[in-house]
Amino acid sequence: MAGRPTPRGAPLRAERVAAGTWRLPLRGVNAYALEAAEGPILVDAGNPGDAPRIVGMLAGAGLAAPRAVLLTHGDVDHAGGVRALLRAGDLDVWAPAVEAEVLAGRGRPRAMRRLGRLFTGRIRCDRALTAGQVVAGLRVVASPGHTPGHCSFLREADGVLFTGDALSTRAGEVFIPRQPFTEDWANAHASLLRLADLHPRLLLPGHGEPLRDPGEALARACEREQTPSRGSR
Ligand SMILES: [Zn+2]
Repeated sequence: MAGRPTPRGAPLRAERVAAGTWRLPLRGVNAYALEAAEGPILVDAGNPGDAPRIVGMLAGAGLAAPRAVLLTHGDVDHAGGVRALLRAGDLDVWAPAVEAEVLAGRGRPRAMRRLGRLFTGRIRCDRALTAGQVVAGLRVVASPGHTPGHCSFLREADGVLFTGDALSTRAGEVFIPRQPFTEDWANAHASLLRLADLHPRLLLPGHGEPLRDPGEALARACEREQTPSRGSR
């Protein structure tokens, strides 16, 4: 889905949002980096063309090139940077099982997502993730609705929740990304309830600003987002 463009002239710098955790603000979408002993692990990888920005921001933060990327889902603005990162170096790709099938070219994405696939290209995942698994210190939480296999990732140690496009933020509020970008609203709302129930302390969305102590905003969203809304985000 489209997001707000980064203001012209704004510094494209990694922003430290929690211990060992960096936000990489790309063009209208966030990726994140987790510091790890063998090299940083990305959560999502931006659009096609974002790979140099990602590597540049990591270098600016004193970090090495990524050694793995953990994808929340297969949309072009989250998985689009993977192929260029793979060309630049050795990188493990981990994705939710259903999304991994689609990324490999085997699934059947909805019509509106097929064009994005052309730009993402086929990606072979090294590891297919399932709900409940813990990978790189993050628990995999099923959060379908935006796409059928979408997953979020919870770091239980400090309550950091990476929501991908299950939830976005705007002006301190939490939203389900609008239709038609969210395919199945009932599932997306059930996912919102599940994520709220995790009582995260820091919500890190694919689109929007990080949100600290999001409990009240999540409670408001659970009420408001029962009915689908349409729009550009
Ligand atoms: Zn997105």
